Amino acid sequence: MSSSNSPASLEVARLGIVGAGGRMGQQLLAAILDNPATQLAAACDRPGTDVIGKDAGELVARGASGILISDDTKAVFEASDVVIDFTHFTAAPGHLAMSLETKTNLFLATTGLPAETQALVEEAAKEIGIIQAANTSLGVNLLALLVEQAAKSLDASFDIEVVEMHHKHKVDAPSGTALLLGKAAAAGREQNHDEVACYERSGHTGARPDGEIGYATLRGGDVAGEHTVFLAGDQERIELTHRATSRTIFSAGAVKGARWLVGKEPGLYSMRDVLGL
Ligand code: NAD
Repeated sequence: MSSSNSPASLEVARLGIVGAGGRMGQQLLAAILDNPATQLAAACDRPGTDVIGKDAGELVARGASGILISDDTKAVFEASDVVIDFTHFTAAPGHLAMSLETKTNLFLATTGLPAETQALVEEAAKEIGIIQAANTSLGVNLLALLVEQAAKSLDASFDIEVVEMHHKHKVDAPSGTALLLGKAAAAGREQNHDEVACYERSGHTGARPDGEIGYATLRGGDVAGEHTVFLAGDQERIELTHRATSRTIFSAGAVKGARWLVGKEPGLYSMRDVLGL
């Protein structure tokens, strides 16, 4: 974060993108270039990927932007008020280290972080501002609130199951969003999520234990993301569903969150903070 990063100089947020060539990376390039309140500060991807050296604007049919996609991650952090990360869980430790070194706030939207990486996120948030969001859309964050409320209102005889479907390229399961929704249900019931979560059923499983929160994962095609939380009781069933029909909802939410994060004090923030939910 450069020394000109004072609140007065932040009307136009200088945003950096790591993983610029990815599905979400390209959505973000377009969203930033289309938004007069944001400036694309720099963009990078892994060495050897075919987007290196390309103009970021031309890559997403916005015309020449003058920003070439590099493989220099540190240069992206140095040039940006906030860096947005939709990459791969293995990249998160390096990006956290870079954020700490350059004192640059980080929007971390990558999912599937192992516990040891999650601990690094919490440690880094003592020194930099981090938004961590398993889902950046307004709709899913609102759905999480509804799920929490429903779980709180219904008695424990209602069984809670979370079903999700994503495109076939997704590398983690269940999705970060499914976990976000399951955790919202557990919070509503005042349960410890990790003690009641059930991720697999196969063979002679026995009857479903009361209080369990079950997950089921579907993968296929180009599905941007669909989630349903079932609350199944005797003779009635509630289904709370969100369907993403385009990834633009995620890039719009991430850009909104990144603008919010500019100049924020160290801390671990969520989309609920950004959206005021
Ligand atoms: P993708 O595979 O299309 O893109 C990933 C990008 O990251 C690629 O450009 C790739 O080259 C780069 N990358 C991979 N490994 C890297 C590494 N070690 N270092 C640096 N860069 C690396 O994936 P995607 O569909 O864009 O999703 C990316 C991530 O974002 C996933 O974790 C996904 O679950 C998550 N996601 C989050 C949300 C949300 O709302 N929070 C929405 C969609 C996707």
